[in-house]
Amino acid sequence: MAETPKFPAHPYLGSNPDSPKDECGLFGIYGMSDAATLTALGMHALQHRGQESGGIVAFDENQFNSHRAIGLVGDNFNSPEVMQGLNGSMAVGHVRYSTSGDTALRNVQPLFSEFKFGGLAMAHNGNLTNAYTLRKKLIDRGCIFQSTSDTETIIHLIAISEYSRVIERITDALSHVEGAYSLIAMTQKKLIGLRDSHGVRPLVIGKLGDAYILTSETCALDIIDAEYVRDVEPGEIVMIDEDGLTSVKPFKKRPSRFCIFEYIYFARPDSVMEDKNVYACRKSIGAEMAREHAIDADLIVPIPDSGVPAAIGYSEESKIPFELGIIRNHYVGRTFIEPSDQIRHLGVRLKHNANAAYLKGKRVILVDDSIVRGTTSLKIVEMVRNAGASEVHMRISSPPTAYSCFYGIDTPERSQLMASNMNLDEMRKHIGVDSLAFISMDGLYRAVGELKRNDDPQYCDACFTGEYPIPLTDHQDQAEPNLLTLLKEPNIS
Ligand code: AMP
Repeated sequence: MAETPKFPAHPYLGSNPDSPKDECGLFGIYGMSDAATLTALGMHALQHRGQESGGIVAFDENQFNSHRAIGLVGDNFNSPEVMQGLNGSMAVGHVRYSTSGDTALRNVQPLFSEFKFGGLAMAHNGNLTNAYTLRKKLIDRGCIFQSTSDTETIIHLIAISEYSRVIERITDALSHVEGAYSLIAMTQKKLIGLRDSHGVRPLVIGKLGDAYILTSETCALDIIDAEYVRDVEPGEIVMIDEDGLTSVKPFKKRPSRFCIFEYIYFARPDSVMEDKNVYACRKSIGAEMAREHAIDADLIVPIPDSGVPAAIGYSEESKIPFELGIIRNHYVGRTFIEPSDQIRHLGVRLKHNANAAYLKGKRVILVDDSIVRGTTSLKIVEMVRNAGASEVHMRISSPPTAYSCFYGIDTPERSQLMASNMNLDEMRKHIGVDSLAFISMDGLYRAVGELKRNDDPQYCDACFTGEYPIPLTDHQDQAEPNLLTLLKEPNIS
């Protein structure tokens, strides 16, 4: 394991209601009438990437129209009035998921701004690691920020760029930016998509007839029966306009570091990412775990839904029967988004129930994708024991999450991560299981198709190793840690 990085606790994490640490989903379409309706459908397919707010900006040949709201896509983009206000054959949409219950409408994306060259809408998935530092400089030179979103930093950099063509201005802006970002931008004439040079966050290209689509995951193509063309490559900028799709790679080539946690937990299992089916990867992790951490038991029980594919893989490999010994209530949001510990505990109880008839007297192997704070595991184990299980073992389809993610996956600060405070046996005792094991790092890499983890790793796995491939500039600079909270008044939504 790597040494603890020497930077202060992340100032945004856990406390700041305007936290820019978002997990997000992107969808953009060029060249099809009713673009906004298709965008809303795509956003619905991406709802797992962000449940807190959503927005669409559409261009109707004359002007940009936008609708942005707190809440689920199905609740906000379902009325004829809203959709009729979003006419046009080009649109970009965004779903967002942040840590806090208090989300200001000003931070809901896509952000839209007027530039010298016309309007531009921008949607972002990821997290910039030098947004504070840049913001400070931009404010010093007179820029006025309307939101606390790091996406706005990119917008200001585009505005002050001295280049004339949009694409040059975007490239210039991004040459100042560090972090993980997949972006979709829309001007009056073009849809533009790009990924950072390490390709940490996903972005794929699709086609529907003559129309082009850019989106975070292929499940958003499937929902509208569009065809998957390919992934946008790390460091690539694709531009779609009346001449079709063109591509440039203006940035220095860097090693690809796609986020391995997308395979473990975050992406939808039916999506294909970098040519790999996510469900197949999760099943392979389960099979690897069955080989690495075999134990005799009567049942494999997933913690639904996140543990299901790995549990199936474990069961197939070990020949121990798979049963739904825990039932999930789907009408509760992810426990993770609840703001306080008290509610988080309550959330877990609301969400899962033991299927006692199947657990009584059984030796049970519980499978989940990750342990973060340990809240879910603790409650579930207690529940399974109360239902009469004779033994409870736990297998986790990721290595211990010991470090925070600074590249766009919401994780608490290190002090709250169970694996950064306890060793394996302490975790086992704390959760109350008879045995606890995590997939090994090489086992994980094997499951996603590599021979082993290289010293120069093929993926970003910083949440497990603490090896951060992109500088964490803001986190080393303690000068003005609250700069992003300039707009500190409560909701202005
Ligand atoms: P915890 O209860 O804090 O240990 O969180 C672990 C549970 O949260 C697991 O069931 C995971 O499926 C889920 N989880 C892991 N990472 C995230 C995340 N970034 N956002 C939401 N849920 C997560």
